[in-house]
Amino acid sequence: MEGPVLCTSRGVICTINRNLRAVQRLICGIERAVLERSRTFSSFRGIGSTISLHDSCNQIWTVEFRSTLEGAETPHEKKPSSDSPLSLSHSLSSPRSIGEMGREKRRFMLPPVLLVISLIGFVYYTTVFIFIDDWLGLGTGPGLLNALIFSWLAFMCLFSFFVTVLTDPGGVPPSFAPETEDPQKDGECLRYCDKCSSYKPPRAHHCRVCRRCVLKMDHHCVWIGNCVGYANYKPYIVCVLHAAMASIYSMVIFVTSILGKDHDFKGISNKIFYILCASVTVMLSLAFGSLLGWHIYLLTHNLTTIEYRAAVRAMWLAKKSGQKYHHQFDLGIYKNLIMILGPNILKWFCPAAAGHLKDGTQFPISKVEGQHPDP
Ligand SMILES: [Zn+2]
Ligand SMILES: [Zn+2]
Repeated sequence: MEGPVLCTSRGVICTINRNLRAVQRLICGIERAVLERSRTFSSFRGIGSTISLHDSCNQIWTVEFRSTLEGAETPHEKKPSSDSPLSLSHSLSSPRSIGEMGREKRRFMLPPVLLVISLIGFVYYTTVFIFIDDWLGLGTGPGLLNALIFSWLAFMCLFSFFVTVLTDPGGVPPSFAPETEDPQKDGECLRYCDKCSSYKPPRAHHCRVCRRCVLKMDHHCVWIGNCVGYANYKPYIVCVLHAAMASIYSMVIFVTSILGKDHDFKGISNKIFYILCASVTVMLSLAFGSLLGWHIYLLTHNLTTIEYRAAVRAMWLAKKSGQKYHHQFDLGIYKNLIMILGPNILKWFCPAAAGHLKDGTQFPISKVEGQHPDP
């Protein structure tokens, strides 16, 4: 949380013209929240009015408008100029955090997240203590080996799931300001979020559920109660990979156990149990198998799910005009993998290894020529 830096300010000056537009940049983090055409200024009622602003960290800032003549002698003060008829100062109150502490932990109380944890427990118990035990016996070498392999997959799945749930995908840093001289921005419009009233970096998108802009947003996932974005995409991929492997492994063990041993299918409860296990393992294998395939495609092309939708249209337009489409962040398979999973291959499958991540507001652009959609 970078927001509290504003507490040290004695006051901030901004200048607004008569149409409440062209607000000059304010110092510190608040600047992004009140840049030009901010909808939050619709509640502005002249000198003396107070408005509340949300910053990218979901913190609320109370901003009071006062005449510069009343004080606010800050080092950043600017004198009113002739073309800025209304010159005001803001005094900033301490920010209130919206569920700052414990918000991540409360995600574990969400029903879909609880369902996932229960499902992992159910599949683990039935696979190890019923099917492997029935088929090979846990006391035998092959039985123990299968149980250990499956336990490792289940542990990695659960661990990376926890990391994905607990890791903040990344909000736009308060210090972020678009640089017009940045070559990334050449020929492109600045990306502005009306809901956050701030500029957003390339690849960041607004999430309606999280009510903020998320860096390199992929999608909002109800099963983790969190957005999948810049900082938690790696643990998400690792979780999907292990979930797919564990599901397929469980399905194979289930089928082998059913075929290899005589089971009692007479009782109604036994029938229901075996049908339930078959349905769960087949459904999970199909779901995670296809999800893994999809994210391997995105990973190797350095695309997000949101960017893919834009890319499909850009591909169609490029084809129509006889051009070749190339995604602007696609640096080639190996570089794409390194960017997301990290430079050390030994740590690729460690969900908590995130030392390679930067601030998530800038991304290298491919030099390959082609049509690029808006990031
Ligand atoms: Zn936003
Ligand atoms: Zn979200």
